[in-house]
Amino acid sequence: MGDVWDVVVIGTGFGGSLAALPAVGAGLRVLLVERGRWVDRDDSAWDATQILVERKYRSASPYRMHTRFGRSTIYPDEAVGGKSVFYGAASMRFREQDFDLTSTFGTGADAPPAWPIRYTDLAPFYDEVEQLLGVSGVSGVDPTEPPRARGYAHEPPAYSEPARRVAQAATTLGLRPFPLPLAINYHGGAGGEGRQSCVQCMTCDLFPCKISAKNDLAVTVIPQAQRSGAQVLHSTIAARLVRTGDAITEVECIDARTQHRFVVRCRLCIVSAGAIASPALLLSSGLGDLEPNGALVGRYLMRHCSGIVIGLFPFPTNPARRFHKQVGITDFYHGHEGDEPRGPWGMIQGLQTPPPEFILAEGGFPIGVIGARTVHRHIYLICIGQDLPQPENRVALDPARRDAYGQPVPLVRHRYCRHDLAVRRALYRQAARILREAGAVIRVRKPINTFSHVVGTCRFGASPETAVLDPWCRFYGMRNLFVVDGSFMPTSAGVNPSLTIAANALRVAAAIHERLGAA
Ligand SMILES: Cc1cc2nc3c(=O)[nH]c(=O)nc-3n(C[C@H](O)[C@H](O)[C@H](O)COP(=O)(O)OP(=O)(O)OC[C@H]3O[C@@H](n4cnc5c(N)ncnc54)[C@H](O)[C@@H]3O)c2cc1C
Ligand code: SF4
Repeated sequence: MGDVWDVVVIGTGFGGSLAALPAVGAGLRVLLVERGRWVDRDDSAWDATQILVERKYRSASPYRMHTRFGRSTIYPDEAVGGKSVFYGAASMRFREQDFDLTSTFGTGADAPPAWPIRYTDLAPFYDEVEQLLGVSGVSGVDPTEPPRARGYAHEPPAYSEPARRVAQAATTLGLRPFPLPLAINYHGGAGGEGRQSCVQCMTCDLFPCKISAKNDLAVTVIPQAQRSGAQVLHSTIAARLVRTGDAITEVECIDARTQHRFVVRCRLCIVSAGAIASPALLLSSGLGDLEPNGALVGRYLMRHCSGIVIGLFPFPTNPARRFHKQVGITDFYHGHEGDEPRGPWGMIQGLQTPPPEFILAEGGFPIGVIGARTVHRHIYLICIGQDLPQPENRVALDPARRDAYGQPVPLVRHRYCRHDLAVRRALYRQAARILREAGAVIRVRKPINTFSHVVGTCRFGASPETAVLDPWCRFYGMRNLFVVDGSFMPTSAGVNPSLTIAANALRVAAAIHERLGAA
């Protein structure tokens, strides 16, 4: 590790991997530093007890959370590929209007800022990343879909029974449901580089794919980058960025297995540790002390104001036990005429029912027991509500706690504002209506209190007075430091974030290596 790397990338999620790929393609020497390890593609991958209850990939480093539900400590999963390994593969583009909400909220000091780029700036990178991730979908059927120059990489499979029931009910209500674009390999060798095709099992969202049919980064982009020469240093924690003047020159690292500390040297540093760990790393490296943007590091955290509506049916809903996270509904994306609050709201999607072991462990007695016993009669719809950026919602460092490696523990404070909660209620009403039409006799609402869609803690923008990063995601005041995970987003939009993180990372990488190439 004594050499100077052209590019050191911290984190192998959507941001880090998609920034690394073009850099290595341009002939640069790229090192990816990742605190997780490669997941095992064996029986444990689909074992609910090992993955969800015993938490096989649980990080040893916690986050402290202060939310309206009180104080808690969470331990994220960690792996090479980041959250993509455990994610649900829904691959949605942000809508054109998401890049500028000023027509709804105005331009006051408290209003959500417009992005410094527009949809058209990201469109070619969305095209590219959909191909890289082998997204299956149908263009032209999502009523709020932004313009696209290229179709999806593949056709999706037919709806399974629960998805068909939801789509039919939504259509009867005059809505325009469509097949959810998914980064899943349904086409074996052709689109999957010899990997096995999806067998449409019931353990996708929350689990690694045992047969590597989910097109997560650990089986797609990262191996591609490795074939071009990128090196992956797994089980390695980036502990501190070392600054020399206006440049990051070294990254202090810890081997998570041995606690051995060492340094890697770099010409350019790309931080992509996720929207909680990235600001924590910047703060613990003293970058929060830089004026004027340092004070904004960690602020404006968003996580979507999401929830599930569970429909209970008087019959088994999925007798074939097939994967069914397949339907998208965006008819209420921009709100609903005559209904509060003013838009945008977000979208409704089919969601896989979780395994009974998980429901039991989460719900306890009696809710968990009842849920686990009746889950074969459930259909879930998830409401993904856009939440607004607020400066008090933030990542800081807990002054009282260190993790097992002696690193400061991130302290996350988050509360939804009234508008966020009203958006979720409005989406709940619409999802419940669809489930009633589909035949559900009881509809139960369950807020999601996780940070799985966390974004926004190092927002980009046109001025260091109001943003941490410049429009190219370079840290204001630092020559060679970029942040490319979900932290860069000034607003959350109302769809899943991964495709936008990935497309933006490609956009930033294109600019970075043009710069480096010129150096
Ligand atoms: C269960 C689940 C389901 C989801 N489903 C969907 C979906 O269907 N569609 C969608 O679009 N989004 C989904 N998401 C959200 C999506 O996965 C995330 O938005 C996205 O993966 C975030 O990418 P990222 O690059 O910002 O960060 P991450 O994926 O979090 O990557 C950050 C990486 O950095 C590593 N890291 C952290 N700190 C350090 C350090 N100090 N040193 C070295 N490495 C470090 C982490 O281990 C991690 O690998 C889901 C998330 C979850 C948890
Ligand atoms: S549904 Fe398909 S992609 Fe998902 S875990 Fe099962 S086989 Fe893998």
